[in-house]
Parts: sequence; structure tokens; C-alpha cells
Amino acid sequence: MKMDRFKRETLIAQMKTNETWDAIIVGGGATGLGIALDCATRGYKTLLLEQVDFAKGTSSRSTKLVHGGVRYLAQGNIDLVREALHERGLMMKNAAHLVSNQSFIIPNYSWWDHFFYTVGLKVYDFLSGNLSFGKSTRIGKKETMARLPTIETAHLRGGVVYQDGQFDDSRLAVNIAQTAIEQGATLLNHFEVKQLLKNDAGIVNGVVAVDQETNETYQLKSKVVINATGVFTDEVLQMDKPSAKDQIKPSQGIHLVLDKSFLAGNDAIMIPKTDDGRVLFLVPWHNRVVVGTTDTVLDSHSLEPRALEAEINFILTTANRYLNKDVSRDDVLSMYAGLRPLAAPKDDSEKTKEISRSHKIIVSDSELITITGGKWTTYRKMAEDTVNRAIKMNKLPQKECRTKDLLIHGSSKPIAESNHLYVYGSDIMGIEALQQEHPELKERLHERVPFTKAEVVWAVRHEMARTIDDVLARRVRVLFLDAGAAIAMAPEVAALIAKELGRDKQWEAEQVKDFLKIADHFVCK
Ligand SMILES: Cc1cc2nc3c(=O)[nH]c(=O)nc-3n(C[C@H](O)[C@H](O)[C@H](O)COP(=O)(O)OP(=O)(O)OC[C@H]3O[C@@H](n4cnc5c(N)ncnc54)[C@H](O)[C@@H]3O)c2cc1C
Repeated sequence: MKMDRFKRETLIAQMKTNETWDAIIVGGGATGLGIALDCATRGYKTLLLEQVDFAKGTSSRSTKLVHGGVRYLAQGNIDLVREALHERGLMMKNAAHLVSNQSFIIPNYSWWDHFFYTVGLKVYDFLSGNLSFGKSTRIGKKETMARLPTIETAHLRGGVVYQDGQFDDSRLAVNIAQTAIEQGATLLNHFEVKQLLKNDAGIVNGVVAVDQETNETYQLKSKVVINATGVFTDEVLQMDKPSAKDQIKPSQGIHLVLDKSFLAGNDAIMIPKTDDGRVLFLVPWHNRVVVGTTDTVLDSHSLEPRALEAEINFILTTANRYLNKDVSRDDVLSMYAGLRPLAAPKDDSEKTKEISRSHKIIVSDSELITITGGKWTTYRKMAEDTVNRAIKMNKLPQKECRTKDLLIHGSSKPIAESNHLYVYGSDIMGIEALQQEHPELKERLHERVPFTKAEVVWAVRHEMARTIDDVLARRVRVLFLDAGAAIAMAPEVAALIAKELGRDKQWEAEQVKDFLKIADHFVCK
């Protein structure tokens, strides 16, 4: 395995030697990474720049579902569901180490619900075609209680079981970034795009970007520039045209992470209709339970959104209505908020949850291409559509998309989840070799979580991690699983990173300080 290709020095050297890129992609979330991979596999010279870290934004803060969206089916959005179910199947084939088949139970408390969801989910099964994850079935009250030992049993009639996908979002993002690099692309995190470059005719032909580690500024030329910045879309559109009207309205969704005892079996729960008309999921994830989500329209966005009191209370109240084990704020191990980049409503009467969740490609007069919306599940198709649009505009030469059957870095046969290293897939051997060579790296970082020092070293050497946040939020996920444990291990992690990157004690201290500020958003006080 040629691991030097993931070194920042190697990637920066590549960036400096190339005079004109075919495509520069701004933003390293699921959308931008998918586009970088699509471009690289079609043979285009590709550069992606991410201001903080891959999946720092919404792409690490999802419900962790690879799904067609039962909710969209209920809204009659058949095409969106069919497309997402097809992509779900491809994701499972191409990243089997990170995407698993998860059973969901919809508990039914009325005869009508029992009937309605049984029929509805047959349609869901049908739409998945030959990439089905398994048939939905009806189960009686007894079986529902046996499979969901913590479910509220008063008035329970039974349940409907269906199959969907589940994944580790930011680890997939990192693996897609690695795959794109292996396919010849140059991807840099901690590199912020500050400005767009234009030719005399006003056509965008590059970007000005700043290396966040050195403050060095670069002017980078490209045939096409693609804006894939999620809730930051308007900032880039306004770099193009300062008077551009906002296209995006952020809508926040939060999740609470609980101990596994709140959902002791292997099944997830889906509550199809909460008080605010949304869906609530309780999903097993890395030996914890993720509960969410909400839909709160905000007036502003940030890289570190904070869960609102009303959102925390709503999730706790709704969970308590469906569980017979009391859940309170003290039980929350971590919480996180993510922002949906929804199309700004045209007037006050439009609600965000009624706005289409399918993706949208906008082409500016300057030929800047912007892609917004969509879902993690459809990242590959969104990329294909975006690159096809660039070809149609004669910005890139015609070449066929090659990502449908492309294996993602780490892809391997699924490994038993009892080994927490299973998420590394074929890279497991590399981590185990590191542990053998340096037995001290086998040491755990905290008694409540299984992660070892070797994973920190691996993340820095081979997964482009540069900060404590990069490691603990998006490479080993401790911040999402147990914020208290993440805070406790931060100084030790800083020392391990500093040793790898040749940093001093002052850097370590600043890192810990920065990380504590971030981690504060994950603690439910
Ligand atoms: C609460 C919630 C739950 C969800 N659950 C699911 C789910 O279970 N399944 C599913 O399929 N989908 C889910 N989604 C949708 C999915 O997470 C998003 O569609 C997807 O992550 C969006 O990715 P993105 O790349 O467009 O945006 P982001 O992930 O936000 O990426 C944009 C990136 O651009 C970078 N950036 C911004 N400005 C600049 C700049 N000037 N220079 C360089 N970089 C810049 C940002 O730092 C950021 O990393 C969920 C969404 C939310 C909000």
C-alpha cells in the first residue's frame, strides 16, 4: 500500500506543480468528495479544497442511515425514494466494511397504523428492485416486545419490520477522499477558498485559497469550479456575485447519543410521526444508541452548531413516550447538531420540511457550478449529475462515469463488529502491524471506549488527520459516542499527534484548548 500519497507535503507539492486543473471542488463533505472521486475516475485533473476537515460539516452529523427515506415515500416522492434505494444498494456493494443491513421496527399502537405501514413498506421493498435489503414483515405484539425489550407496551398492537442501511458517515468520507487520491486526485483539508478568479469575460477560472496551517495563499487555475459547500453555499455564490440573493435556509437537526441499554436488542426503532410531524429514529451505532432528529429553521449557520434546549427536550419527551426505561439529560453521552441546506422558502407560508429534499444544480452566469441539497445516500449520483452537467457545458471533455462499481478504500468483506476495528476494513492489517511493532500503541485511550493509541497514529499517518478534533470527531468518533471520554483523552491525543507532526508543547496546549471549545457543544448539561 502506497501510504505516502496521503501525506500533506506530497499533496501540497502536487498542488504546486500543476498549472491548470480540469476541476477544482470547493468543500469536502459527502457532495464534494463524491464529485472529486467522479472527476478523478473519469481521468480529469482534480483538486478538492476543504476549509477544515473532510466531513467537518453536516456529513459527520447525519442519522447514519443509508436509506431511501420511508418519510419521502409517505409524501409520495417515489422517484427520490427509488433513486436513493438504488444508491443504497451500490453503497453497500462498494463500501461493505462501513455500510450494514439494519432491521427497523415501527411499533404500532393502532389498527390503522399496522395496516398503513405494512402496505407502505411493501412499496418500499418493491422500489429497491434487485438491490433489496430484505422483505418487510408484520410482527405481533409478543415478538415486538421480545425484540424491543425497552418499548412502551401499553396499547401496543405489534410492529412492522423493514430493512435499511446504516453506516459510519465521516469514516466513509475519509475513505472516499483516500479513494479519490488513489485515483489521481489531489485533496487538501485545512485549506480555505477565499475568492474566485475570473477571466476578462467574467467566467470563473480558478480560486484563491489559503493553507490554514501556514497562512500561505495560492492562486489556482481551473477549467471548472464546483461549489459543494452545503450550508456555506451562499458565501461562495456571493464571492461570485456580491449582490446574489441567499439560496439557502439552514434547518438544524440534532441527535442524542445514549447507552446501548436503552435499545438492548439488534433492531432499530422508527417512530413515523412525532408531535411535530417528523420521524424519530433510535438506531444502534458503535455500541450506543443514536436518537434523532429535529427540524428547526435557523437564521444563521456555523461550523459548530449547538443543540437548542427545545430540541433536546423534544427528543427526550418523545423517546420517553415510546420507551419504558426513563431517559433523562444525565443519560446523554454525547449530542450533536447538523444543518440541512434547504432551499430558502419563497415566502413565509412555505415550511422547510415540505421542501423537496432532492438535489439541485445551479449554474451561475460566470459558469460557476453549485450543487446543494440531496442526501448522503445519494452522494454518488449527485456527483455523476454534476460532472455530466459540466460536460454538457463543454467545460470538460466527454467521458463516462465510472463510480457505479468502484470499490471504496478499505472495502472488504464485513468483519464482526465485536472487533471495533471493523470500520477499517482492509486497513485493519496495517493497524494491527503498527500495534505489533509498537506494543505501547495497543493501550486504550479511555476505559469507556475501545479505541487505542494506534488508531491516533494511523489517522495522522494515513488518514490526513491534523488536529485533535480531526481524530476524535471524524476518525475514531469518540466525540460523538462519549463526549466526556473525548475530553478526558484530549491531552494524550495531542501528545501523540504532536510527536507524529513534530509540533511543540505550546501547539499541544493550544490544540487542547481549541478542542475543549468544540467538545463543549457535544456535552448535554
Ligand atoms: C440532522 C441530519 C441528519 C441527516 N441524516 C441523514 C441520513 O441518515 N442519511 C442520509 O443519507 N442523509 C442524511 N442527511 C443528509 C446528509 O447528511 C447531507 O445531505 C450531506 O451530508 C451534505 O453534504 P455536503 O457535502 O453537501 O455538505 P457538508 O457536509 O456540510 O460539506 C460542506 C463542506 O464545505 C466546506 N466549506 C465551506 N466553505 C468552504 C470554503 N470557503 N472553502 C473550503 N471549504 C469550504 C465545509 O467546511 C464543509 O465541510 C442528514 C442531514 C441532517 C442535517
